[in-house]
Amino acid sequence: MKKVVKFGGSSLADANQFKKVHDIIKSDKDRMYVVPSAPGKRFGGDTKVTDMLYACYDIAAAGEDFTEQLAAIKKRYEEIADTLGLKVDLDGEFKTIAEHLSGTPYVDYMASRGEYLNGKLLSAYLGYEFIDPAEIIKFNENGDFDQKATDAVLPERLSAVKNAVIPGFYGSKADGSIKTFSRGGSDITGSIIARGVHADLYENWTDVDGFLVTDPRVVENPAIIRTLTYREMRELSYMGATVLHEDAVFPLRKEGIPVNVRNTNDPSAPGTMIVESTCTKPDYVITGIGGKKGFASITIEKDMMNSEIGFGRKVLQVFEDNGLSFEHTPSGIDTFTVYVNQNDFAPKEQSVIAGLHRLTNPDLIELESDLALIAVVGRGMKRQRGTAGRIFSALAHARVNVKMIDQGSSELNIIIGVENADFEKAIQAIYDIFVTAAV
Ligand code: ADP
Ligand code: ASP
Ligand code: MG
Repeated sequence: MKKVVKFGGSSLADANQFKKVHDIIKSDKDRMYVVPSAPGKRFGGDTKVTDMLYACYDIAAAGEDFTEQLAAIKKRYEEIADTLGLKVDLDGEFKTIAEHLSGTPYVDYMASRGEYLNGKLLSAYLGYEFIDPAEIIKFNENGDFDQKATDAVLPERLSAVKNAVIPGFYGSKADGSIKTFSRGGSDITGSIIARGVHADLYENWTDVDGFLVTDPRVVENPAIIRTLTYREMRELSYMGATVLHEDAVFPLRKEGIPVNVRNTNDPSAPGTMIVESTCTKPDYVITGIGGKKGFASITIEKDMMNSEIGFGRKVLQVFEDNGLSFEHTPSGIDTFTVYVNQNDFAPKEQSVIAGLHRLTNPDLIELESDLALIAVVGRGMKRQRGTAGRIFSALAHARVNVKMIDQGSSELNIIIGVENADFEKAIQAIYDIFVTAAV
């Protein structure tokens, strides 16, 4: 068996966590390729190294003195190296970073140093070769991941080594400049490596017992999902279940490589298996509940809208012209609503309204802000009649006002719009009706 193992930030936050990671890797010879994140939070209220790096970059980019901030980052690594007795030239590494910051710094390079340095420490600790992902993970000119260019170098480079540490989160463009994925992107690196080496399993080690039915910060101690499909995972991750990056499935799909989400702090727990497809029945009617706050809705009313050919296209054209992507578009006979990210929308609000007036000649435009979207996801839902009914009676019981309902045609999910203020209450109510009441 060939396994790729990715360890998240809290799994590698300090020397004690490094020891746990070391023992997990060394206890199974199949754990051949290791993808580390940057050191995360050691305790509540602590700061992730990646966030410290972004802050340090901002100081340097503003032309201000970054010495203190950079020293605080260096200290995080020194503590780990000193406690574990690792011989890594941190002075030299930080001199290079300081020189970069004093020249013409760029943000992706700076952000990537969190993973780079943690990889250096972990490779020294494990005695495994260090491979810089700038060598093997490629991005195109637009900054998108380039599978073809990666395929041209990664498999060959890794087939030459039995064990290696490859930092997560970044790669490089053809001109050699560093490019990062979006936040949480080390999960994607792990997937790319797993695909590139034709791994049998991709283990994603984090700080919870697996992929949970819902966010543990919203519902206390939620149940674990034992088996999840790629599609369910993507729906849930996109809707806030940040335990795995929503884009981590793409490299795995073609090879059908399963992911096992595991807990570094409790390696005895079996975790969650994420697979292409499965006969395993979910434990509950629903598989999981995701959710995100911070949406705005724009409702356009116009008499006889239903018979006006091309009306929807014109509305969406205005959003496209303003560079806005939309989340959902529920519609009635004479109304058409568009849900967008509130922060993205706010600076373009007036331009969108003007554009809608110009292109669609509406009777009325109504805006609403501070909305949340909740996704109830499950491959078992389509076989079960009455799921939507149960959701809405639970929400009515909890006195949550439902603003919008959207059931995907795949019947894999039901999306519900509520006010931000009702978000936690709504998720708890849905969780209780399907999970708490079922056990
Ligand atoms: P890592 O640093 O290991 O990548 P993350 O912080 O990115 O870890 O992801 C793990 C966190 O995701 C958990 O601590 C938890 O708070 C949060 N989370 C949100 N939704 C879920 C969910 N459905 N299942 C598990 N964890 C979730
Ligand atoms: N360290 C990066 C972040 O904080 C990438 C990751 O953790 O996956 O976003
Ligand atoms: Mg993560």
